[in-house]
Amino acid sequence: MIERNTGLANLTAGYLFPEIARRRREYAAAHPEAKIISLGIGNTTEPLSKHIAKAMSDYALGLATKEGYSGYGDEQGSAPLRQKIADVFYKGMADASEVFISDGAKCDIARIQTLFGGKTKIAVQDPAYPVYVDGSVVTGAAGSAKDDGTGYKGVTYLPCTPENHFFPDLSKIQPNTLIYFCSPNNPTGATATRDELKTLVDFANKNGCIIIYDAAYFAFIRDPSLPKTIFEIEGARTCAIEVNSFSKPAGFTGVRLGWSIVPNDLKFADGTPVNKDWNRIMTTLFNGASNVAQAGGLAALDEQGLKDMKESVDYYLENGRLIKQALEGENFKKAGVEVFFTGNGPYVWTKFPGKKSWDVFDLILDKCHVVTTPGSGFGPAGESFIRFSSFGHREDIEEACKRLSKLAL
Ligand SMILES: *Cc1c(COP(=O)(O)O)cnc(C)c1O
Repeated sequence: MIERNTGLANLTAGYLFPEIARRRREYAAAHPEAKIISLGIGNTTEPLSKHIAKAMSDYALGLATKEGYSGYGDEQGSAPLRQKIADVFYKGMADASEVFISDGAKCDIARIQTLFGGKTKIAVQDPAYPVYVDGSVVTGAAGSAKDDGTGYKGVTYLPCTPENHFFPDLSKIQPNTLIYFCSPNNPTGATATRDELKTLVDFANKNGCIIIYDAAYFAFIRDPSLPKTIFEIEGARTCAIEVNSFSKPAGFTGVRLGWSIVPNDLKFADGTPVNKDWNRIMTTLFNGASNVAQAGGLAALDEQGLKDMKESVDYYLENGRLIKQALEGENFKKAGVEVFFTGNGPYVWTKFPGKKSWDVFDLILDKCHVVTTPGSGFGPAGESFIRFSSFGHREDIEEACKRLSKLAL
């Protein structure tokens, strides 16, 4: 028999979202009258822009004609879309040859791990989006053993807490490490400042590290002083790859479209450009993003599309402000609850001092019939925190806020 991939065998059961679903199911079964609202999801809820949807629909109908039909396209993505992304988001910071179109940021993160292989040391923010570590475990980069309760051996966990303003102590990172960095952050919402990113970039250049910069929430940044791409930082072109997505700004979570920027100046130890190997990975392991989705991406980047994306993000940001307001009520204040909402991301990260995340999760489900996400599921430094998501219909958010403001803690 063929041996099982030890990486998969080492992987701790991805229990967070299934466990949330299980508790919700059980609660609903025992309380059929409860109208449960979810503030737990990292999934978009509002309809697509008509303009963007029409571009996809027109393209799809075109495929049914002789003139409009096309089969496989370039694995790196359509030339006009690569050019448009470079022009709209990276003026002077990256060119079209450095833009690779994908079926989404998560998928690119997984492929990036095959780019570096199983011997690479990795470092992650703690708490973090689970794919960075779990994907590294599968390739073997997280070490050869299971998580012993303190994390995987090959992973350096970088606590990001209110005490360090959610920016980690980089001195714990060994030379030649792959650093995953997400800003605006999921789950904390923290958005790195220009100075912080400069510190990170300087550290990486000095220590032979490569940063995988997850900018999936860049469109939520409203503070004009905050960088929207790591390539705004001098020196980033020799140490960073940026992973990005249409999922959150355009509601493309189901449509599937993203991109990564791999600068030509980024090199491996032997001098090989990373861009060259990434091109090889994409042409070998990937066969191009959906042409219909790419037609939507192109429409998202014209004047109307950009306006529509901004409106959609504004809607979620307003939801976030409403949740923040509810969590700053007297009942929460008295319990010493601390609310972290930057207005530059969709999550309201909330600390319940002295309490366990899962206990607060159960309390809010029981008393408010609201589903949240326990912070401890994103890493040890997330213990005592709850992540409230601002993805939801306004009426549901308003109702959830009403119930939260009556919660006795
Ligand atoms: C939602 C999200 C993504 C987007 O993934 P897609 O595969 O593009 O849908 C990437 N990173 C983080 C941190 C996310 O929360």
